Amino acid sequence: MPEFDYDLFTIGAGSGGVRASRVAAGHGARVAIAEDHRVGGTCVIRGCVPKKLLTYAAHFSQDFEDAAGYGWTVGRPEFSWPALKAAKDREIERLEGIYRKLLAQSGVTEIDGRAIVVDPHTVEVAGRRVTARHLLVATGGWPVRPDFPGADLCITSNEAFELSELPKRVLVIGGGYIAVEFAGIFRGLGATVTLAYRGDQVLRGFDDDVRAHLSIELVRHGIDLRLHAVPESVERLSDGTLRAMLRTSAGVEPHEVDAVMLATGRAPATRGLGLEAAGVVLDADGGVVVDPFGSTAVPSIHAVGDVTNRIALTPVAIREGAALAATLFGGKPTRVDHADVAHAVFSDPPVGAVGLTEGEARAASDAVTVFKATFRPMKATLSGRDQKTLMKLVVDADTQRVLGAHMVGPDAPEIIQGIAIGVKAGLTKAQFDETVAIHPTAAEEFVTMR
Ligand code: NDP
Repeated sequence: MPEFDYDLFTIGAGSGGVRASRVAAGHGARVAIAEDHRVGGTCVIRGCVPKKLLTYAAHFSQDFEDAAGYGWTVGRPEFSWPALKAAKDREIERLEGIYRKLLAQSGVTEIDGRAIVVDPHTVEVAGRRVTARHLLVATGGWPVRPDFPGADLCITSNEAFELSELPKRVLVIGGGYIAVEFAGIFRGLGATVTLAYRGDQVLRGFDDDVRAHLSIELVRHGIDLRLHAVPESVERLSDGTLRAMLRTSAGVEPHEVDAVMLATGRAPATRGLGLEAAGVVLDADGGVVVDPFGSTAVPSIHAVGDVTNRIALTPVAIREGAALAATLFGGKPTRVDHADVAHAVFSDPPVGAVGLTEGEARAASDAVTVFKATFRPMKATLSGRDQKTLMKLVVDADTQRVLGAHMVGPDAPEIIQGIAIGVKAGLTKAQFDETVAIHPTAAEEFVTMR
């Protein structure tokens, strides 16, 4: 009889948990995974994937407008939210099915239910106790709702994907990834959108030029951007409208809308999991504290992905999951390199970035050279669209190494993914310059900036 029921018991079938489980099974481990919602986690079910689909949908409104400059006559386009939602739901169901199939094909036992840690080798799930040599916490994160009267009347990104109809007037609270992405989605789909952020510029943590450029583009896109604006309360009026009171530098102003969306951050989903009682240390946000290999203060309990409160991005969680499986079952202790992780915001226009911002580079050294280009995308010449693209390289003046690359403009995420290879590889500005451009593209600017 084996000492434990399983070698690995994973809590949470999102990107990180599924990858860790499948790779562990591939190394010969006996693996079970528990999920209390839908297999696929935030990214597949209520995050990256459905968000990207909505982003595509939203962009068509501009495409129809732009087509006129290229000789097309487009009739009056009509949009159906129920049709989009149904198509999106079908796609998510298909992907969930693929995830389940991949788990089964890998020999991972799937258990529907919420698992709670009982002790360092035991979980309680679906009414029974299960033991494992290693436990993996991969429960992800959950939207944070600030505490103000009427916050319960607001939606978060979770509910935004499930709306039965498209709100005509939307107030989005927050200035991070989700806030600017959904502001663009609702605007593109035809809603009147106010974006209220408490700070002085959206996308804190991004390069300051990127933040300033994006905020201009958001306003050009028709989004009513309110800075230094904090929600005080939300109430429902008799006709169903929501009245949100926003405190700004000018005083408290009412906003009557059909939906208020809170995009005020996400917190690690650790509550009620029994982790602290088992000896796992959590940080101030509830994130599981792990060492570079993904292990917690309890040697048999590990964690990967958003729940560790490090970089909340799917590809990072996937890396962490695979690394943990290699460490525990592959005989190859593996750390994940969290430096120079490229990232993108699917706002309209989108943002792509990798490496250091100018501010970060200057904080570390006086020897920094910056190359910047701002230009009208070629497509905008005939379409007449009032839009500018920003591209920026941050270079170490001593070594000539490219420390960071930043872009706001069409295709920025696609372009930065390629540039990220050069930044990760430590290439110099001279090597960027030696690379012959592809003309005519926007991307060529990254090898022609002088
Ligand atoms: P972010 O941390 O990016 O942004 C949260 C925003 O809410 C910030 O602007 C923050 O302001 C503001 N905020 C926080 N608390 C309050 C409050 N009480 N009242 C008013 N405003 C508040 O979180 P998101 O939820 O947008 O996204 C979570 C994470 O998920 C991201 O950081 C990212 O890692 C990941 N993600 C990635 C995406 C992608 O790859 N494209 C897309 C979506 C999410 P302040 O800046 O002042 O703190």
